[in-house]
Amino acid sequence: MDLNKDVKYIKGVGPSRVQLLNKLGIFTLKDLITYYPRTYEDRSRPKSIAECINGDEVLIEAIACGRLSDVRLRGKTMQRLLVRDETGSCTITWFNQSYLKNKFEVGKKYKFYGKITNNFGKITMTSPTFDEDEKNFNTGKIIPIYPLTYQLSQNVLRRIMEGGLAEVEGKLEETLPDYLLKEYNLEGINEATKHIHFPDKFEDFDIARKRLVFEELLSTQLALLELKNSYLNDEKGIRFDKNVKMSDVINKLPFKLTKAQIRVLEEIDNNMESEKPMNQLLQGDVGSGKTVVAMCAAYKAVKCGYQAAIMAPTAILASQHLENFQDILQELDIKCELLISGISKKKKEELLERLACGDIDILIGTHAIIEENVIFKNLGLVVTDEQHRFGVKQRTRIAEKGKNPDVLVMTATPIPRTLALILYGDLDISIIDELPPNRKKVETFAVHKNMTERINAFIEKQIQEGRQAYIVCPLVEENEELDLKSVEKLYETYQKEVFPQYKVEYIHGKMRPKEKEDIMERFKLGKIDILISTTVIEVGVDVPNSNIMVIENAERFGLAQLHQLRGRVGRGDYQSYCILKYEGKSETVKERMKVMCHTNDGFIISEKDLELRGSGDFFGTMQHGLPEFKIANLFEDMPILKSVQSAAVKILQDDPKLEEEKNILLKNLVKDKFMKRIEI
Ligand code: ADP
Ligand code: MG
Repeated sequence: MDLNKDVKYIKGVGPSRVQLLNKLGIFTLKDLITYYPRTYEDRSRPKSIAECINGDEVLIEAIACGRLSDVRLRGKTMQRLLVRDETGSCTITWFNQSYLKNKFEVGKKYKFYGKITNNFGKITMTSPTFDEDEKNFNTGKIIPIYPLTYQLSQNVLRRIMEGGLAEVEGKLEETLPDYLLKEYNLEGINEATKHIHFPDKFEDFDIARKRLVFEELLSTQLALLELKNSYLNDEKGIRFDKNVKMSDVINKLPFKLTKAQIRVLEEIDNNMESEKPMNQLLQGDVGSGKTVVAMCAAYKAVKCGYQAAIMAPTAILASQHLENFQDILQELDIKCELLISGISKKKKEELLERLACGDIDILIGTHAIIEENVIFKNLGLVVTDEQHRFGVKQRTRIAEKGKNPDVLVMTATPIPRTLALILYGDLDISIIDELPPNRKKVETFAVHKNMTERINAFIEKQIQEGRQAYIVCPLVEENEELDLKSVEKLYETYQKEVFPQYKVEYIHGKMRPKEKEDIMERFKLGKIDILISTTVIEVGVDVPNSNIMVIENAERFGLAQLHQLRGRVGRGDYQSYCILKYEGKSETVKERMKVMCHTNDGFIISEKDLELRGSGDFFGTMQHGLPEFKIANLFEDMPILKSVQSAAVKILQDDPKLEEEKNILLKNLVKDKFMKRIEI
């Protein structure tokens, strides 16, 4: 039996179905049997007709009382069949299914599974699937429902799956070592594969799923930890000079560093001086002062004779970093330049030339830095800011521009340790858990949408006192066109109807970088009173005079994201406000708003976000950072993830390179992950 065999050789798969399967990402037998159901329908337990409740999807067992009759209805043909059990009768209907004509015999028993309508005692079932009494093709068992099947019907895919499973039944080689199966009480691969698709009872499914989730999470976790070990053991990195002191730049700063910043800098300094390549994650809440930490590290790299690259997710943010860096570093004779996609061709060429000959010390930019033609003379340090936008792959690509440069990854999305381990398992973690002194807490209010007038009056009062405001548009699902519409509409309302006397502007992700920068610059200079924005302002922009932020339809955002947005205000000396306008009355919405009003601590918020998560909100802010799991779900499977993590640590302590006989299978799993270059 060959798991890599093309699906076209599987029973029931003809040329047209091959194409449909390919569309689902199913090319081989292995792909097929690991295409897991999205959910299941329990068609195993019959109900009597009298028990059926309006709207239920149920299985009934009933006798055909008459022939199937055709009824013409508005151009369609409806098939109708009257059935009965001991408790009552039910009319079954289908549309345009003339092939059913001779399927039913009067007086014979059938099983029907479908949706019940109970209209004042008149019971009907529409378009059910059915079986003859003794048969169990479509009913009589728990039926898997597969995700996104395009033109393949569930029934057809199920048949194909049955064919595929029949080929492998009892023949799959175990993928987890025996000792783990025993220790964690996991089912064997053969039973698990069978039961994940066709469980006889739901307990079977639970047991099967646990095993498959365990395996998927374990292989990811081991791969990440191995990656980390390989940085540590195999490759030599740069040993930055002990005699270059970060204190030289620290003394130039206009403020005193916090204890947390100092501690983190010591960790980074040590790692830079060691021969191991540094791979460090720096977590710190919005406003905790991560930029200056990056600057100190870059300073050290440059004074040791290397170049540094700072990569930010947006052009606005990159420009802001450039400004901050230049303020301090120019005096220290360090040359910083900006590389974003908006700059002219000529300027870019010149810049790339200077970079290649070492005339530029620190290059700050966006994704543009990753491009192939960007060549450094000797890149020693890579900093990526707001990491949730970059994946392992991108991180590796930029690091490849140097010879094992040190890497510092900064993120303002505080995540609980368990998740950090699976999302950033290849990195060492440092945390800034303290804000600079004298930060005023941003007062946060959650108000229902019908309070709009009072909110506007409040904004007006602040503007009269010389402040500025952000208004954040409702989040529109990953659709920039709609985003644009919503920001323009909001702009019209505010500029024309609400605040014609003030200068209102808007900004969104689709604008050219130059345009965005221009607007941000004017906002910074106070030439704009109210800035309407999509979430492009989420990351890092610093405008101290802006002390009020209104978030429209706050219920659509994840808590972590609201927290990020809120971090844009409260950066100056003024008392700042964040107003969450929400719609809806659900308890979860209220609870979420309450969390935002009561705490400013990013870690607490992210824990709560996990707990109260609506539809995967938490990862809304980390879109690209999320590994794709076939079966695991990081929320529901938190308990499994925890046991996987302790297992992974133990396994690698015992056998760091997975060389022992008993771990051969694990080695294979990890290799498999690396072949796919770890989609994390
Ligand atoms: P983030 O961690 O969100 O990137 P920033 O690095 O942008 O935060 O810092 C936020 C603001 O706090 C900046 O204006 C920065 O100059 C200032 N800042 C950073 N560290 C300190 C400190 N130790 N004392 C006072 N202000 C600081
Ligand atoms: Mg920042």
